[in-house]
Amino acid sequence: MNQAQYIRTLFAREDEVLRSIEGGLADRGMPRISVPPETGKTLYLLAKMSGARDILEIGALGGYSTIWLARALPKDGRLISLELKEEHAAFARENADRAGVGQQVEFRVGDASELLNALENEGVSFDFIFIDADKERYADYLERSIRLARPGAVITADNVLRGGRVCDESDRTPSTVAIRRFNEGLSRDSRLESMLLPVGDGLAVARVR
Ligand code: SAM
Repeated sequence: MNQAQYIRTLFAREDEVLRSIEGGLADRGMPRISVPPETGKTLYLLAKMSGARDILEIGALGGYSTIWLARALPKDGRLISLELKEEHAAFARENADRAGVGQQVEFRVGDASELLNALENEGVSFDFIFIDADKERYADYLERSIRLARPGAVITADNVLRGGRVCDESDRTPSTVAIRRFNEGLSRDSRLESMLLPVGDGLAVARVR
């Protein structure tokens, strides 16, 4: 058993619905790139500890992280998840319903940039945001997230260590370069207090001042 499996076994056990999502993605030919259970549990705990009532997720896929996050909500809380692909959102909706959180979750389909514009126009705000979509636009999603965040809100983002590739300066692939830019911006941003946690593929955690 490796370190991640050890942590999963003790602290991040999945129920039947969460366990089924990986196979469901494979059956549908969808990418199997949900967060791992330990990242799901970390998101759940952070959302719960921060008392989040309104959560925003950017990138739903099959709803795996959506379910972990929605389970941290109080009964009157809600989660809006933005997803580019209708087929991903449909599968995520099915899984959220099966997990018993469907009533609290709204999936919006389209390009996150446009959907974020719409949210700003609606005048809504959030106290927990999870960024997990196209890496090249992470820096932009962070800027938009700050605009949508209430004071004291928590902003998180997945894949910020890229399996360690962010530390390898010779890696110039666009997604790694984009994540490096995101991390550097996050570290310098005086509107935030931030940290990168080496959980899963790296989880950025920031608190809006
Ligand atoms: N958060 C999910 C989980 O852990 O269960 C995994 C999300 S997966 C890494 C990224 C998702 O973002 C994919 O479903 C993809 O279709 C979606 N996506 C990619 N580009 C997007 C965009 N421009 N707007 C909205 N969603 C996008």
